[in-house]
Amino acid sequence: MYPKKLEKFLLKVQKPGRYTGGELNSVVKDKSKVDIRYAFCFPDTYEIGMSHLGMKILYSLVNAREDAWCERVFAPWTDMEAVMRENDILLYGLESGDEIRNFDILGFTMQYELSYTNVLNMLDLAGLPLRSKDRTSLTPVVIAGGACVCNAEPMAEFFDITLPGDGEEVTNELIDLLKEYKAKGASKQEFLQAAAQIKGVYVPSLYEVEYNEDNTVKSVNPTCGAPEKVEKRNVADLDSMFSPSEFVVPFLEVVHDRTTVEIFRGCIRGCRFCQAGFLNRPLRRKSPEVVEAQCKAICDSTGYDEISLCSLSTSDYKGLEKLITNMLPWTIEEKINIALPSLRADNFPKELMEKLNAVRRSGLTFAPEAGTQRLRDVINKNITEKEVLTTAAQAFSGGWTAVKLYFMIGLPTETEEDIEGIANLAQAVVDEYYKNPDKPKGKSVSVSISVASLVPKPFTPFQWEPQDKPDVLIEKQNYLVSCVKTRKVNVSRHVPWTSFLEGVFARGDRRLADVIETAWRKGCKFDGWAECLKPDMWEESFAENGIDPYFYTARRREYDEILPWDHMDYGVTKKFLVNENKKAHKGETTACCREKCAGCGANKLNGGVCDEIGKTVV
Ligand code: SF4
Repeated sequence: MYPKKLEKFLLKVQKPGRYTGGELNSVVKDKSKVDIRYAFCFPDTYEIGMSHLGMKILYSLVNAREDAWCERVFAPWTDMEAVMRENDILLYGLESGDEIRNFDILGFTMQYELSYTNVLNMLDLAGLPLRSKDRTSLTPVVIAGGACVCNAEPMAEFFDITLPGDGEEVTNELIDLLKEYKAKGASKQEFLQAAAQIKGVYVPSLYEVEYNEDNTVKSVNPTCGAPEKVEKRNVADLDSMFSPSEFVVPFLEVVHDRTTVEIFRGCIRGCRFCQAGFLNRPLRRKSPEVVEAQCKAICDSTGYDEISLCSLSTSDYKGLEKLITNMLPWTIEEKINIALPSLRADNFPKELMEKLNAVRRSGLTFAPEAGTQRLRDVINKNITEKEVLTTAAQAFSGGWTAVKLYFMIGLPTETEEDIEGIANLAQAVVDEYYKNPDKPKGKSVSVSISVASLVPKPFTPFQWEPQDKPDVLIEKQNYLVSCVKTRKVNVSRHVPWTSFLEGVFARGDRRLADVIETAWRKGCKFDGWAECLKPDMWEESFAENGIDPYFYTARRREYDEILPWDHMDYGVTKKFLVNENKKAHKGETTACCREKCAGCGANKLNGGVCDEIGKTVV
């Protein structure tokens, strides 16, 4: 649904289907019969938000309650924003068309630092004050979850609450609490203080931050009984965790137009750059029977012809072969493709590849991440060149002709030789194709290399590392392109300024709130979109607020510095991360959890054990 006023403008904007609602499986309730109205806000376009699994889970989870109604809200694209502002149309929920400023909870999912200005834009379009302190009534409570809230400090002024960790249980607890506090006519402050007592709830306004003269954090002090450390929420048993049996089916093509079912959370690997791997420890997995039942239910309710079995490292799933074998009969019969994202080159069995070949074939992607073994040891990416080539050879024998390889530049200790190594590895994959007697007849090979730039993130062993400045990254990218000697290899690169801005906010502190607001007032939004990014406006905003952005990105931090996110507890200890950082600089690797527990500390969140090995060292 959409406001009546909007009707005459819908055909004037790109993709009106983004704004109309009414899709198959969208949930419409009688608003007079619910106590809590929840707006799930995705601070990017409809197409991106509708592909996000977290949204699908929380949307169904809240709507499974009789007393609550969850609606979807996406960031309107700039053309629609102009229409809304010119015609005084406030941001509305897609299911009811009602203005979200009258809802009880606005829940943002924060997956990407470059959507921060979109949050401000959405609050403004909703007709709400941007800052938590200026929204004085109890509702709407503005909350946020997702990976970025592991360091919510740059957005601390804007959010009332953030939810580090898994959202399923805590969302329900927060709704229950708000319902109770609303019924008794409590104030916002009373509610926030009570919410801070729920495990996995962070109320930024209840913490006072002091800074040293050198601009580092001096102390973070909880007030009003808020906990000193906020421990993330961890859903221990994924089999019994809520999982949706239907997804809203969009009218227009979205980024991932398919069924997505999570097979495990966390990761047994310890890639030192990977924030998701550390934030989601310890590993918890669903049983193959539960995964299959969930896939079947969603395919039946949506009619999708592709299932993505998703996780951080799908080929590490212990029951993968059994799962695929069980699923093949009905997926073949119903012409449903099984997609396996996030594969590793070292453990993707040939038999599995052959089985998948029976259904529609999708491209193969691997992530060696670095071009030389030395650098792969630094980042703890325990994959050898031989393993990449062997897997590629198997794929070519199985009929694949396109391989995508993911790499990073800007890694600690990187040299020119490591960058040349990227081009060399891609070339070796091409060579492997041409020497393979079983390669597909009459077809050519295509190897794409996607090169991201390292953004050191909180809660990783690289959280103390300096980040390459944009000009250095550009030089490195150009050097890589000059090393590629064949047209069979295609290089795609990230925009260095985007990585720089991402780096500022990833490791930033509360003083960045003014910068974000200034940049938004100057017109910055959709900063993650190359065509929308306005580096000049950002530079002006940093300067006007007396902030040196390189303070956050380019300096090496000392191990004993208080980091802005140190009062969050994701299970993995700082001692472990320091040790991993030291090992990285010595080029020493750490075995994966399945081989040997490295004692990271995250098992405490699972009652002392980890799914994969059962025995941990403390
Ligand atoms: S406690 Fe051990 S097994 Fe568990 S996540 Fe940490 S390193 Fe891995």
